[in-house]
Amino acid sequence: MTVNSILSHKGDEVLTIEPTATLAAAVQTLTQRRIGALVVTGPSNRIVGIISERDIVQALDAKGAEVLAAQVAEVMTRKVVTCGRNDTIAEIMEQMTLHKFRHVPVIEHGCLVGIISIGDVVKARLDELVREQDALRDYIRTA
Ligand code: AMP
Repeated sequence: MTVNSILSHKGDEVLTIEPTATLAAAVQTLTQRRIGALVVTGPSNRIVGIISERDIVQALDAKGAEVLAAQVAEVMTRKVVTCGRNDTIAEIMEQMTLHKFRHVPVIEHGCLVGIISIGDVVKARLDELVREQDALRDYIRTA
């Protein structure tokens, strides 16, 4: 199973934020859209970072509530690990486990075309297991 099969179900919407936006604005979008991370994009939609709820919680702990007025660029992760449409779910799981993050933006021809979260990966894997189990049951029943 590939990244593309997940995107074909969930679609290609990726919520982005500018590096100059405030953390308060990031919190508002994360909460309203019930998501865990935003891709940070600069001019021409180029990825310049990623900010997740974990970054914001850590900044709040380190600097207190006034950090909500700071810019996203101050706390985002700049070196973003991305994947392609043809990468397998197993490869994405490996990346998430290795780097301990839960979001991977999908890039095609240099453009952002989707994002895979750990929830998407778990759902895809469970669906796959159910399909395998059904196929085995059918096989046993008809053998
Ligand atoms: P998360 O588990 O996605 O909430 O993120 C945990 C930490 O990893 C945060 O510091 C994020 O900024 C960072 N992070 C999340 N996704 C990625 C990614 N694809 N590449 C690099 N860092 C990431």
